[in-house]
Amino acid sequence: MSISGNFLCYDCKQLLWLGKAIFAGDQVAYYHLGNATEAPNWKQSQLNQALWKFLADHTSHHIGVLCDFELDDTLQDYTEIGGDALTDISLDDYLTGWPGLAAEGY
Ligand SMILES: [Zn+2]
Repeated sequence: MSISGNFLCYDCKQLLWLGKAIFAGDQVAYYHLGNATEAPNWKQSQLNQALWKFLADHTSHHIGVLCDFELDDTLQDYTEIGGDALTDISLDDYLTGWPGLAAEGY
């Protein structure tokens, strides 16, 4: 059974799914989104951009990282960035118009 990580803003009820938790001993070493042949998360530019936008969007908010087994039912009300439910926000939509992309000439 795999365990996934989620980056949450408790104030805005949004979350960014981080992918599968890869452990070193009993500590999470990193998260990996996609199959084993996919680039590491930090090399997936859209995910990397979404992470930085999420940090900027939720400055001074209550944020945290939880694994799936730590999520409770109240989190079902959260909007997932990059999720595929009707209430979720695609990564394309989330990044549209983000000034951080313009800073690099995108
Ligand atoms: Zn927030």
